[in-house]
Amino acid sequence: MAFLNHGVRTIFLVELLKGMALTFSYMFRRKVTLNYPHEKGPLSPRFRGEHVLRRYPNGEERCIACKLCEAICPAQAITIEAEPRADGSRRTTRYDIDMTKCIYCGLCEESCPVDAIVEGPNYEFATETREELLYNKEKLLANGDRWESAIAADLAADAPYR
Ligand code: SF4
Ligand code: SF4
Repeated sequence: MAFLNHGVRTIFLVELLKGMALTFSYMFRRKVTLNYPHEKGPLSPRFRGEHVLRRYPNGEERCIACKLCEAICPAQAITIEAEPRADGSRRTTRYDIDMTKCIYCGLCEESCPVDAIVEGPNYEFATETREELLYNKEKLLANGDRWESAIAADLAADAPYR
């Protein structure tokens, strides 16, 4: 009897028709896929993407070379050198991040007392060579200039939870 039932289902292509009906039913449902990179999903204000070094509105670097981020980095990806300026303020002369070592843990930004080093919203920074992922201070400050408005908005949105 089971053999007969199987034969009837095969002759009338029951499984095939059920599959096509299922496929057809999805044509009228809301799409859950995105056409990346033309469409992008929402990001949390806490998203940990590419690093930036931020400035104050007057253009002055925020970083005071306290080296807390360098000390806390579990991947030892950050290298900082610093010396006092003529006005007595302390600033970095070198700020490197080896992005190939970074594990995007966020401890550097958590430790920073002046919100200078931040992991911004950019996740589209794939490179063709390893060397391009060795970031220096100039690159990090340029990232900060590029992403400042988005980062300031994210920090403000996340402020109640900090
Ligand atoms: S995110 Fe973590 S691993 Fe990456 S530089 Fe910051 S502290 Fe280091
Ligand atoms: S980025 Fe922040 S934590 Fe790191 S040295 Fe500068 S001020 Fe200190």
